[in-house]
Amino acid sequence: MKNQRQEIWHTIIIGAGASGLFCAGSFSAQKLVLEHNDRAGKKLSVTGGGKCNFTNLFVSAQDYVSDNKHFCKSALSAFPPQRFIDLLQEEKIPFYEKEEGQLFSHSAPEVVRFLLKRAQAQNTTFSYQTQVLSIQKEKDFFRVQTTKGLFYAYHIVMACGGVSYPALGSGNFAFQTAQALHLTVEPLRPALVGFKAPAPWKEIFASLAGNSLPVEIKTKKHTEKGQLLFTHEGISGPAVMQTSLFYHEGEKVFLNFLPEINLEEKLRENKNAPFLFSKILANYIPAKISKVLLQDLDVRSCEAKRETLFAVIKRLQNFEFIPSGTMGYTRAEVTAGGVSCAQFSPQTMECKTISGLFYIGEALDVTGRLGGFNLHWAWASAHLCAEALKKK
Ligand SMILES: Cc1cc2nc3c(=O)[nH]c(=O)nc-3n(C[C@H](O)[C@H](O)[C@H](O)COP(=O)(O)OP(=O)(O)OC[C@H]3O[C@@H](n4cnc5c(N)ncnc54)[C@H](O)[C@@H]3O)c2cc1C
Repeated sequence: MKNQRQEIWHTIIIGAGASGLFCAGSFSAQKLVLEHNDRAGKKLSVTGGGKCNFTNLFVSAQDYVSDNKHFCKSALSAFPPQRFIDLLQEEKIPFYEKEEGQLFSHSAPEVVRFLLKRAQAQNTTFSYQTQVLSIQKEKDFFRVQTTKGLFYAYHIVMACGGVSYPALGSGNFAFQTAQALHLTVEPLRPALVGFKAPAPWKEIFASLAGNSLPVEIKTKKHTEKGQLLFTHEGISGPAVMQTSLFYHEGEKVFLNFLPEINLEEKLRENKNAPFLFSKILANYIPAKISKVLLQDLDVRSCEAKRETLFAVIKRLQNFEFIPSGTMGYTRAEVTAGGVSCAQFSPQTMECKTISGLFYIGEALDVTGRLGGFNLHWAWASAHLCAEALKKK
């Protein structure tokens, strides 16, 4: 309950993004949401290309990367995808399955409007253009310093996300605060993002920018199959973005542009036929792509040297390079790493060492694969936090 005389809120939620909005609408105590953007859900409004891939029907702990692999399990089992689906159905908000259990709404802003309305119906006050600068724990309450003055609360929910997509309001406040409160932060890195290619491949890939094809992409510990998109700086697309979640700087990346065929066999089968390599390849890979990828190899004749045959196979089926980096936080959908889960209760999201302090969503060291898993984590962690706050 809000204590009017001392103006101590029951709860202050920092961030009106996915997790903050969902948490605010999930318990009825008087609460204040502080948001430095001029409106709620700015990032949420552009998720899923404006369609908001809000959950995945097949969500499980295996879809998340964390230093503490078991941490997300309680939240996921307490809040299965059907819970969010029920909410949308009650509101008659239409949605559809795209592929592999990925559920999309028809309009991300519609989901934001629904979450905002739901929060407002649960005693939530919003203060926009209010940047939180610091948090201090007093004896049994918190002092919250903002650009609009001081606020006080018995409980704080850190729902301020990660550093990716700063243009939409992200910053490193969650991590700075954790460090100031002597909490461990696992190393941060941009994830669900494309790779930059080194020379000469940067220019070669750039000449194919906009073209895509199905590939197999491998790193030391991970293999992914799916679409690759050539870009002006390197490679992107779902399979590449998915791979970035498991990638560590300096590692090699292996690409198989023809994952479904045995190219050596196909080329040998045609060894004595009057075909050009390029003609045979055209059956399996767009001619424009193979022409550019093989431009330095003499593939004019099927009678080309043995070494050429192997060079073609290596280039198309075991192409390796070390990315010169990722496209960085400006283009990454999420920040991997984050505030260490070891310091939080997986049943409530409350800090074990600072009572009344909760962390939810992307700020925690729980990062999902592409496909609705990150928003599902935002809802599920917010749900458990709200359940705990109902009892306070
Ligand atoms: C382009 C894009 C598309 C995406 N699409 C999908 C998708 O379709 N499906 C999916 O599952 N995931 C998607 N994601 C990831 C998903 O959006 C995030 O994982 C999710 O929004 C995280 O929720 P959150 O509440 O933790 O943080 P956010 O939603 O980022 O919310 C944090 C809020 O805190 C505010 N804030 C930060 N610091 C302060 C401060 N100091 N003071 C006051 N306010 C502050 C921010 O302005 C922001 O509103 C996408 C991400 C991007 C960038």
